[in-house]
Amino acid sequence: HVTRKPPPEPSPLRKAKFFQANMRILVTGGAGFIGSHLVDKLMENEKNEVIVVDNYFTGSKDNVSQWIGHPRFELIRHDVTEPLLIEVDQIYHLACPASPIFYKYNPVKTIKTNVIGTLNMLGLAKRVGARILLTSTSEVYGDPLVHPQDESYWGNVNPIGVRSCYDEGKRVAETLMFDYHRQHGIEIRIARIFNTYGPRMNIDDGRVVSNFIAQAIRDEPLTVQLPGTQTRSFCYVSDMVDGLIRLMEGDNTGPINIGNPGEFTMLELAETVKETINSDVKIVTVENTPDDPRQRKPDITKAKELLGWEPKVKLREGLPLMEEDFRKRLGILRKN
Ligand code: NAD
Ligand code: UDP
Ligand code: UDP
Repeated sequence: HVTRKPPPEPSPLRKAKFFQANMRILVTGGAGFIGSHLVDKLMENEKNEVIVVDNYFTGSKDNVSQWIGHPRFELIRHDVTEPLLIEVDQIYHLACPASPIFYKYNPVKTIKTNVIGTLNMLGLAKRVGARILLTSTSEVYGDPLVHPQDESYWGNVNPIGVRSCYDEGKRVAETLMFDYHRQHGIEIRIARIFNTYGPRMNIDDGRVVSNFIAQAIRDEPLTVQLPGTQTRSFCYVSDMVDGLIRLMEGDNTGPINIGNPGEFTMLELAETVKETINSDVKIVTVENTPDDPRQRKPDITKAKELLGWEPKVKLREGLPLMEEDFRKRLGILRKN
């Protein structure tokens, strides 16, 4: 009787080479803020192969640099307003500038990204039979006349204003999603994302949390836009990513609100940033921009019931995590 030695374990490289992913996932806009955190989470699952498509308009290779060269990861420079021919099982369609200063910078490109970009991703989903998730926005509710906003509210949106390229663009994107679903049987998921914050946000993209944190770190006054009593509800990015994945994996098309119902006025946000980051910093008021929604707070009953999801990270817990990342990138250490 001869006992045979078991065959040697394949080397990690060999394992990687013959690796067969069970799920090939496309993330458009994956080099952006939310997209790159989504990629990190998806890459944790060894059964996933992740393909990022991005034109780097507001995103950056730095956000996904940790995955470059990984056998289950691929990065493609591509603009979603052009057709894309690849084979995938799921599409997380995030590509679109999210910060008002960027989407207003080239409004025609923004609406093309929302309309033609979403059409192309739906055409791709149709050709390969993929499930597609759209990251829509609370902006589809416009300056809401219902508070808090639930998914049945149709919104109060100016069709010809400076924000329309973004909010009307996303409304058309939602329409396209439902028309492809009804007409072609495409499996769709729509998330209505409320203001999200966290590490890797563009430092100078003009959004309120990134502005206040950068200002507090640089010892510059926090610029509260008038009247300061307008409200937003801020969701930490890890909660957001968890909600998006649950929505993709679940059985509901949505639209489903994903956001944190904790509501703050901009003055309260400034006070909170001051308390947590730099107690010496001044708070000043400055002019606002047109069509700024006065209040925004998600009703997340649907997300709780259908996805078993609710946010875990409170604003006071999330701000310091973002501060750490901003300090590293700005190269400014905490005093004392
Ligand atoms: P982001 O600007 O950091 O990321 C968007 C990414 O899309 C960037 O990497 C950008 O380069 C890429 N992109 C833009 N236009 C493209 C095009 N034509 N082709 C290919 N790539 C393109 O923004 P984010 O905060 O990560 O937002 C991601 C998604 O979530 C967006 O669809 C946005 O509308 C939605 N959303 C975000 C928020 C928020 O508070 N961050 C709120 C509501 C909705
Ligand atoms: N499309 C794409 N990738 C694909 C399939 C389609 O980018 O794999 C684009 C295609 O160029 C078209 C859009 O998606 O502009 C819509 O495609 P669909 O097949 O629904 O419509 P049609 O091509 O018949 O207009
Ligand atoms: N805001 C502010 N100071 C800033 C930037 C923004 O007070 O430096 C306000 C802005 O007027 C709006 C809110 O913060 O009421 C959220 O703006 P943001 O651009 O972050 O996102 P929005 O929800 O408008 O897309």
